[in-house]
Amino acid sequence: MKKEYFEKIAEHGQLIVVSGPEGAGKSTVIKKYLSEHPNAMICVSATTREKRPDEVDGRDYYFLSLTEFERMIRTGQMLEYGYFNNNAYGTPKKAVEDARREGRNVILDIDVVGAMKVKTLCPDATLVFILPPSWDELEARLVKTGYYDEKTVGNLLQIAGEEIECANLYDYVIVNDEVDKAVNRFAQIVHGNRYGRNSMKGFLESYIEGEVKPHVRDLSQALA
Ligand code: 5GP
Repeated sequence: MKKEYFEKIAEHGQLIVVSGPEGAGKSTVIKKYLSEHPNAMICVSATTREKRPDEVDGRDYYFLSLTEFERMIRTGQMLEYGYFNNNAYGTPKKAVEDARREGRNVILDIDVVGAMKVKTLCPDATLVFILPPSWDELEARLVKTGYYDEKTVGNLLQIAGEEIECANLYDYVIVNDEVDKAVNRFAQIVHGNRYGRNSMKGFLESYIEGEVKPHVRDLSQALA
């Protein structure tokens, strides 16, 4: 019984928060990582922004009206939420908690302010910042999407500058010069982090508090 208890804590999935400027290639890196690591998952955020032609409701985002979005906030269903470029975005709490409890690593693709909120609410979260290789490349990638007019590209570059100033608040920084290399770096972080102090925080706390002390001899097995 006790052994099952701490095996469960030891197997609690990690929470990995990924931020970076629009155009840094976060979603490309995350999608590729997920295709190679099906036990990990991305938490689908809710947003009030308009759906883009290539997006699917429930896969890319839950596209909500402002009224529906605000109802989720009022009823305590958002882990965190914030505003970006005049649209609201939020992370549904239950999906994150359920998946972590099942031992799945959960990735959040959220902005810098949201990441800081998550770090306060979930101190065991690992924060990863993805950088484009250069400003020129960032601008070129934003233009190439075809989503934005010139003014919006300018806005996004300005937001990018503010976001990059916060990169030193993150645990890890990845330069996305080539997708495969960036995915590899990301995978190394997730795997290297499995037994890091942050990921083991919940386990260590319950261990130190005495709930599992009598079963010290089972420890190596539980962490295998
Ligand atoms: P986009 O509209 O281009 O998909 O995303 C715009 C920004 O919103 C990105 O920086 C993205 O990381 C951020 N974002 C997406 N989902 C969430 C969320 O649930 N919470 C917060 N705080 N930011 C989010």
